[in-house]
Amino acid sequence: MPYDSAAEYMNLLQENLPMENRVTKPVPDLKQMYDKKRDQYNARGYVRHCSRMARKEGHLVLGVTGVDLFSAGHNFVFGSAQVGGHGGVISIYRLGEGKLLEGRMIKEAVHEIGHIVGLTHCDDPLCVMHFSNTISEADNKGTWFCADCEKEYGELKSGRLDKTNV
Ligand SMILES: [Zn+2]
Ligand SMILES: [Zn+2]
Repeated sequence: MPYDSAAEYMNLLQENLPMENRVTKPVPDLKQMYDKKRDQYNARGYVRHCSRMARKEGHLVLGVTGVDLFSAGHNFVFGSAQVGGHGGVISIYRLGEGKLLEGRMIKEAVHEIGHIVGLTHCDDPLCVMHFSNTISEADNKGTWFCADCEKEYGELKSGRLDKTNV
């Protein structure tokens, strides 16, 4: 289920985004991230967890989870990351199934990796770094960066690679 497809589609990203896939043990402090009133998990806790893991291992870490995530000021989020940090997370909870899930997952992963590497949101609605508040906005945007973001991504990434060994 989620983990199989996660690993499978993360593989698709490897050509452009050097990544390694791994299924980890359940996040130990998952309970602390759970908000009973909202029946959702706080994305910040996940990002912190992935960032800690990343710093320990000297990599950048993008977590993939099946639970519904929220962050302050949003009803839900598809993902979250530390801009220019080390870790981030995406949730497949609201991304549907099958081919739709695959395409959306790649977009969300590229988006959050873009944030981890240091990119912020882009005004271009077709750019993968455009903020999507709804699934239709997410579907409307492309799977890759616009020309400006791609250039910036390349520059930021080469700077990061020296330091982090991704
Ligand atoms: Zn974003
Ligand atoms: Zn852009």
